Amino acid sequence: MTNTKKKILSVFFIEIILAAFLSFGFCFGSETQVSAATMPEYTVALTGTVTKTTWGGSNTTDISNQTVISVPKSNTSGQTEDIVLYLTGTSVAGTSVLYDGNYIASSQLNFRTTLSGDTLTLMTSDGQQVVSEQGAISANVSDGRYRIQLNHSKASGAGYTKWGINVDVSCSFVVDTAAPVIQGASTSTTGIYTNEAFTVAASDAGSGVKALYMKEPNSNVYVAVGTSKTIIRGSKNGRYSFYAVDNSNNRTSTYYVNFDDIPPTLSISGADFGETVAKAFIVSAKDTNSATLYCRYETEGWKEVGTSYYVSNDAKDGIYYFYAVDKFGNRSEEYWVRFMAAEPVGRFIKSNTDNTVYFTWDGDYWTATLDGKSYTKGTWIKTEGKHTIVLSNGAGKSTSYPFSIEHYFVKGETVPPTCSEQGYTEYKCSQCGETKKEDYIEATGHSYKKTTKPPTCTEMGETVYTCEECGFEYKEEGDYPSGHSYTATVVKSPSCTEDGQRHYRCDKCGYEYTAAIPATGHDYSITDEQNEEGNTKRVYTCANCGDTYTQDLGNQAEMVMNYVEYLFEQYSPYMIWVFLATAGVWSVFMGIMIIIAHKHEEKEKAKKMLVNYLIGLVVIFGILVAAPFLVRGIAALVT
Ligand SMILES: [Zn+2]
Ligand SMILES: [Zn+2]
Ligand SMILES: [Zn+2]
Ligand SMILES: [Zn+2]
Repeated sequence: MTNTKKKILSVFFIEIILAAFLSFGFCFGSETQVSAATMPEYTVALTGTVTKTTWGGSNTTDISNQTVISVPKSNTSGQTEDIVLYLTGTSVAGTSVLYDGNYIASSQLNFRTTLSGDTLTLMTSDGQQVVSEQGAISANVSDGRYRIQLNHSKASGAGYTKWGINVDVSCSFVVDTAAPVIQGASTSTTGIYTNEAFTVAASDAGSGVKALYMKEPNSNVYVAVGTSKTIIRGSKNGRYSFYAVDNSNNRTSTYYVNFDDIPPTLSISGADFGETVAKAFIVSAKDTNSATLYCRYETEGWKEVGTSYYVSNDAKDGIYYFYAVDKFGNRSEEYWVRFMAAEPVGRFIKSNTDNTVYFTWDGDYWTATLDGKSYTKGTWIKTEGKHTIVLSNGAGKSTSYPFSIEHYFVKGETVPPTCSEQGYTEYKCSQCGETKKEDYIEATGHSYKKTTKPPTCTEMGETVYTCEECGFEYKEEGDYPSGHSYTATVVKSPSCTEDGQRHYRCDKCGYEYTAAIPATGHDYSITDEQNEEGNTKRVYTCANCGDTYTQDLGNQAEMVMNYVEYLFEQYSPYMIWVFLATAGVWSVFMGIMIIIAHKHEEKEKAKKMLVNYLIGLVVIFGILVAAPFLVRGIAALVT
């Protein structure tokens, strides 16, 4: 058993080497049918009868599957000779035994026997003779069942010396030069790619499949797997190799199935999948077998882009989707990267009917704020004043747009000018309601009518100017009032003690009034004077009404003297001071004059002045002392 196994293995390795050469040939498209031209030298096992004839009769012996048949050489010698039948193909490798019913793999059959006189006959299975020769035959046959017959016949003598030997043996065999058929695999290394479970099966119409051999990916060893093999999903990925051998040792060429049920993987550098980025990135597809990368921009169609795709810094903003498919049809998941590299740029759209605007932009993922608050694209901005829109791309880039909205004045009512006021047109801001006046028209000016009024006794004359359009008027002063022109009539005359009355009436305007005439007062005069012992009495009488009164004057001289003395007494305490003051002034004055005279060396003059000074002092003293007495004397004189 061990020996047999070793034998099979050695044959097996030879076949592998052979197969390698053959497959090399197939690579160039050769479809040559494999023919196992090399075959062992078979010793044919023979089955049949051996008949020995003598004078006494014949004796027949059956033999079965015998490779060496030993027979007598002649009736005398006692020597024997061996019948051995050999079969070879076109070339020989080793030896073997061909038993009845065995398969051989060569269409070229070369039989030879050890005894050249023996007749060899090759027959078909239905009894047709192919060829018959002595000692050796050769034939080129097609596949089928054949029988090789060997006839060894010798005879001699007669009667009791009669001797004969007759051997009739044969062996059936089947010629099978066709290699098994393999289904489910390809002779081309690139023939079959699959990501599904697959089955490779070998069949052989002739000798039948001895075994299907399979080599797994990355393995160096073929392993017999029966007549068919199913590889399920989840098995090792790569190229599976197969060949099959039939029972006549016909070997198929090598068949292949490329199996890959693992989808490609996508890798990215410069970004991460599912992220928003602002700079270039590259996506690559990887697979144990080559993978094809597909890219889709936004809603555009998928495009095949080789094995990697570079999104450069100036690429279009938007979402890029990726997936990859290997040549087995395994499809990866879909990934995306949102690319936002462009500076966000927007624009204002101004209203046709006022100054309001809205802001809009093209970037699908951009957002904006208006004065720091979220702004919805396309919203009308009506608030007047300064504003700022900041447009952001969501990936760190933004652009500022300062702007302002001015009033939008719409022409309103036109007010015509009046005599005194300008006309104008009113404008109203349709956004905020603010109003303003413009387009002024000068006032037309009044259209005056002049009315002149002469002055009266008491009122100024005037000229009135009245506007006929609006009634506005103003006045100009005319002549001064003429004043009343009274005629006076005394209604009641005044007496000495009572007022009278005078009535006045203006001749021009009839204005009248009554005024009092003051009482005249009495008109006294001295009508009588009496003097008794220095006392004087006087009688006064009014010339108009005769009213009288008496005045008692008393003693007049005494009264004056008393008064003067009284004054002198009042004056005397101050007299010495008046004298000193007057004398002082006199002294200073004269002192200066005397010094001046001395300086001018007018000694005579100075002497006179000194005398005058002394006289002056005496005079001053005299006047001061004498004055009261002088006054008293004058008073007495007067009285
Ligand atoms: Zn406004
Ligand atoms: Zn007017
Ligand atoms: Zn008057
Ligand atoms: Zn009187």
